[in-house]
Amino acid sequence: MAKLKIENGKLIVPDKITVPYITGDGVGAEITPVTQSIIDAAIKKCYNGKREIEWLEVLAGEKAFKQTGSWLPEETMKTFQEYRVGIKGPLTTPVGGGIRSLNVALRQELDLYVCLRPVRWFKGVVSPIKEPQKVNMHIFRENTEDIYAGIEWQQGTPEAEKFLHFLQNEMNVTKIRFPQTSSFGVKPVSIEGSERLIRSAIQYAIEHGLPSVTLVHKGNIMKYTEGGFKLWGYAMAEREFGDYVFTMMQYERIKKSDGELSAEEALKKAKEEGKIIIKDVIADAFLQNTLLIPEEYSVIATLNLNGDYISDQLAAMVGGIGIAPGANINYMTGHAIFEATHGTAPNIAGKNKVNPSSLLLSGVMMLEYFGWKEAADSIINALEKTFRSHKATVDLARFMENSVILTTTEFRDEIIRNL
Ligand code: NAD
Repeated sequence: MAKLKIENGKLIVPDKITVPYITGDGVGAEITPVTQSIIDAAIKKCYNGKREIEWLEVLAGEKAFKQTGSWLPEETMKTFQEYRVGIKGPLTTPVGGGIRSLNVALRQELDLYVCLRPVRWFKGVVSPIKEPQKVNMHIFRENTEDIYAGIEWQQGTPEAEKFLHFLQNEMNVTKIRFPQTSSFGVKPVSIEGSERLIRSAIQYAIEHGLPSVTLVHKGNIMKYTEGGFKLWGYAMAEREFGDYVFTMMQYERIKKSDGELSAEEALKKAKEEGKIIIKDVIADAFLQNTLLIPEEYSVIATLNLNGDYISDQLAAMVGGIGIAPGANINYMTGHAIFEATHGTAPNIAGKNKVNPSSLLLSGVMMLEYFGWKEAADSIINALEKTFRSHKATVDLARFMENSVILTTTEFRDEIIRNL
C-alpha cells in the first residue's frame, strides 16, 4: 500500500493507496461504513483488483476524546500530513472555551485553501426550483481569509476600546455610527490568497472542459478587499492563462478600442474557440441569478463569507444538505480532505435512516481527484438509477411521488446492485 505523492506540481496516485478516514460522530458511524462499502464495490467492479483503497482509521471528535482525552490527536494530524488525502464524517463541535472547531483546525493546519462544492441535480430528487436540470455549478470558496480569519473584538472590552482609539486617533476614521457600543472585526483579503483560489478554479475549468469561471464579490461596497479579489483575479487570469481564457476585462478594453472585431464578436469568437470566459458578478445579483438563469454559471470563485451563503443556497436548489458533497483542498501540496457537508444529525443517529449521499458523493470527488473516473462515474450512474426509480432514504423519499423509503443499509445495497 502506498501514499499519494506530488512531483513537479502533479499528483502521483499509486494503484493501491492508503486513505486515512475519520468515522465522525453521530450519524458518522452509519454513513462512513456505507460509503466505504460502495466505493470498494465500485473500484472492484471497474478495476478488478488492479486498483484498491486500504482504509486507515484515524481518530477525531468524541471517539478520539473518549479513547485519548484529545478531540484532535496529534497522530491524526500527522497521518493526514503524511498521506495527503483523507475522508471524514461529521464531527461534533465541542462546546466550551478554548476548543477550536475541529473542522477549522484541520483546514488551518493543512492550509486547505479551497472549499470545493460541486452542485448538480439528480433526476428524481424533488427541487424547489422549476428547472433544476440547469444547475451544474462548481463552487470554489476561499477557505483561509476574509472575515473568517477570526480577528474580532467584543464591544465593551479594553481591546475594542484600544482598536477604536487607533481608528479614531491614528487613522482619522469618523464614520463609525455608534463608536462606544461597537464590536469590531477585521477582514483580511490578500493578493496571494485570492490568486491561488482563482488559479485553482481556472485550472479545474480547463481540466473538466467547463465554459466559464465567475468571480463573485461585493467589490461595489468593499472596494479594496472584495474589489481587490476581482481585479487581482482578472489580472492573474490574463497573465498566467493567456490564450486559454477570455476575460470580461479584455471585453471592456476591446469596447473602448477601434479594433477589427467588436467586443461582442470577440466574445463570440472566444466561445467558439473553446476559451474559458472569466467574468464577475456582484454577490447579491448572483444569488438572484442562480434562481433565474442558473445555466449562465459553471465554475464559481468567491470569498469565504459569500461562499458560505452560496453553498447552502445552491445545495437547497438541488435537494438539500443530505446530498451535497464537499472537499477542502490545497492544490499546491496535494492535501485534500473530502467530507460530508451536514452535521452529526443527533436526532436521527443510530436509527438506520440517515442519507449517506453527501459523504458518498464526497468519496466520488475523491475518486475523481485520484483520476479514477470509471469508479466515480459508476457510483454516479448507480445513484441516478436509484433516484429515478423513486427509491431513497426518508429525507428525500418523503417529497417524491410513489416513493419507496429505504433504510441507510437498504440504500447501500440498492446502489451496489445498480453499479
Ligand atoms: P445537522 O446537519 O447535523 O442537522 C440538521 C438537520 O438536518 C437535522 O434535522 C438532521 O436530522 C438533518 N440531516 C442532516 N444530515 C442529514 C442526512 N445526511 N440525512 C438525513 N437528514 C439529515 O446540523 P446541526 O443539528 O446544526 O448540528 C449537529 C452537530 O453537528 C453540531 O455539533 C454541529 O456543530 C455539528 N456540525 C458538524 C459539521 C461538520 O463536521 N462538517 C457541520 C455542521 C454541523
